[in-house]
Amino acid sequence: MQGLMQDWPLLCTKVIDHAAEHHGRREVVSRSVEGPMHRTTYAEVRRRALRLASRLVRDGITPGERIATMAWNTWRHLECWYGIVGAGAVYHTLNPRLFPDQIAWIMNDADDRMIFADLTFVPLIEALVPKLSGLRRVVVLCERENLPDSTLDLVAYEDYLAEGDEDFSWVAVAEGDAAGMCYTSGTTGMPKGVVYSHRSNVLHSLIAIQPDAMNLSSRDRVMPVVPLFHANGWGIAFSAPMVGASLVMPGPKLDGASIGTLLREERVTFSAAVPTIWLALLQHLEASGSDLPDLRRVVIGGAACPRVVTEAFETRYGVEVVHAWGMTELSPLGTLNVMSADTADLSRNDQLALKQKQGRAPFGVEMRIVGDDGAELPRDGRTFGRLMVKGPAIATAYHGHGDVLDKDGWFDTGDVAHIDPDGFMQITDRAKDVIKSGGEWISSIDLENLAVGHPAVAEAAVIGVAHDRWGERPLLVVVRKPSCDVSRDELLRFLDGRVARWWMPDDVVFVDEIPHTATGKIQKTTLRDRFRDYRLPAA
Ligand code: ADP
Repeated sequence: MQGLMQDWPLLCTKVIDHAAEHHGRREVVSRSVEGPMHRTTYAEVRRRALRLASRLVRDGITPGERIATMAWNTWRHLECWYGIVGAGAVYHTLNPRLFPDQIAWIMNDADDRMIFADLTFVPLIEALVPKLSGLRRVVVLCERENLPDSTLDLVAYEDYLAEGDEDFSWVAVAEGDAAGMCYTSGTTGMPKGVVYSHRSNVLHSLIAIQPDAMNLSSRDRVMPVVPLFHANGWGIAFSAPMVGASLVMPGPKLDGASIGTLLREERVTFSAAVPTIWLALLQHLEASGSDLPDLRRVVIGGAACPRVVTEAFETRYGVEVVHAWGMTELSPLGTLNVMSADTADLSRNDQLALKQKQGRAPFGVEMRIVGDDGAELPRDGRTFGRLMVKGPAIATAYHGHGDVLDKDGWFDTGDVAHIDPDGFMQITDRAKDVIKSGGEWISSIDLENLAVGHPAVAEAAVIGVAHDRWGERPLLVVVRKPSCDVSRDELLRFLDGRVARWWMPDDVVFVDEIPHTATGKIQKTTLRDRFRDYRLPAA
């Protein structure tokens, strides 16, 4: 028997249609690249996206073609996403912090037809263009009078929009058609293109707004500090308008002081970013003595959130921390750490400890851990194995590559994790970063989190270094805070008793800087290369 229900396609354009119709006056506030604050509304964003879509069609853009963006989070970037999907095309976000050769490779792999870019990136695009085969037009996100002199035939976004027609209907597409594209940042290999569909983006947003996930509503003022180019912008470009939450876009300034000012002046209630951003904000708040009167919740993910960050937000500033885990391939949300009915009554201290974990799977994400033989492992909170996931917003393949799912349809995340009986998952490592000592696994993430708990430590990384007897042993690499002094022995004493004896790092080295990837994560491959021949004291 068939269900007798309407076939209502899950399209990204329906999200902005809904936002404009039912939350049309809600604001989209941006710090623009040119400097001043810009204020618009969902109704206006939709009108301009319609203009853009019509103009793209007039330019000969056909459904499924990729259009790149290289831009900070602003209202114009948001309009681009909706204008591009509204023309039936595919938004492809580029991370400007990658090496130019890598960007050129990615743009050719994606076969980008056009690019919409912020003013600041014009010199970079001038260098890229000779290496690109399919690019037909460069549009700069500015007014004509701000267009720079260039070797390229640049078009100002505002002129381009003015030639469009807001009396336009979105180009018809099916919900399974591609809407967006984002390359993995290549922390562990060559970047690979993840292709989101309209359906996966809409379902991902429905998953994200749930109370036990991001818990968004029209009363929220949402600031995505995470750039739209990082892992599908964590889906916020769809989830915020879906519920009619106002958006506060931080533009290019992501330092602690700039973020702190926006949070206060724009009365932001919800924000999301990687731990490094929050560490910088907390340092700014401490130094300036200011507070966060309106902020109620922050989602922290992309890398493990150290306990000191959770503790500072929750106890000093009264902000709830939602530790989350995700990947570009998951659209990107996988799990979120929100207390359940079984854990809501735990003591403050036990909750803080629990929040070190990456959290529970919302409806729409299935997960399990498996051993080397592929058999499922117990959910006892101790046994760790490869984390496998399934869901309607999880990739089946990469652009230009075959299906990557296993025979039962599971996606292997490449992360190593354990799951406790309450369903809280904890990442212990990336499979490639885990330290194998005498056949047992040591979690580099656990050691790093403990080390940054020392007041003199600004950043810490733990890598495996060759050892004659044990195969590999942990080496702790530390950046000290400015004008703080701490010795190797002091740090080892600090860790002693907080981890199993055999997990204790064999040595500590101090460095001026730890290398980061383009998304702000510790670049373990570079660190491992640098310390490849390091001789541990006991070895
Ligand atoms: P890349 O894989 O290129 O770094 P992603 O941004 O997609 O790009 O990174 C996803 C990976 O980041 C995950 O597979 C996991 O290893 C790591 N990660 C994400 N969130 C967390 C978290 N909360 N704790 C620990 N690791 C995390």
